[in-house]
Amino acid sequence: MSEEIAERPLNAVSQKMLLSPKNPNHQKRGKNQMKYRHIFGPVSSHRLGRSLGIDLIPYKTCSYNCVYCECGETTIQTIERSTFIPEDEVMEELRCILSTSPQLDSVTFAGSGEPTLSLSIGNVIAMVKEEFPQYITSVLTNGSLLTRSHIGQAGDI
Ligand code: SF4
Repeated sequence: MSEEIAERPLNAVSQKMLLSPKNPNHQKRGKNQMKYRHIFGPVSSHRLGRSLGIDLIPYKTCSYNCVYCECGETTIQTIERSTFIPEDEVMEELRCILSTSPQLDSVTFAGSGEPTLSLSIGNVIAMVKEEFPQYITSVLTNGSLLTRSHIGQAGDI
């Protein structure tokens, strides 16, 4: 984690939007998956095959506000990285699912915003790679933060 970018707590708007019914990823969840707050799918992806989605970002937090975005208008437009969601919660959900050895082609960091805004993404990817090396991990990113030297280094993404 870079020292130049401070971690900030999840603000009230972010907390509210994280579980918003407007979040299409929450709408994709079936009844059996309601217990998972940060994981959706698996969904069938043309590019990635059978893809389990991990959403580390409150709806709809992004560095861009693309007119064609399937998630709708950006609610929080920012380039400030943050720990939006308790890392332990996401890891616990992932361990719960991946320990059952589901048939997946990819564990995919995506969802309702730009995943590299999450300061937790590197640690969560590292956990998956270490504990479940049989799975490929993917990050669906708009790339806007990848020019920052501290993102893209091993140990972050
Ligand atoms: S970069 Fe992706 S998530 Fe962000 S507004 Fe554009 S399409 Fe939506």
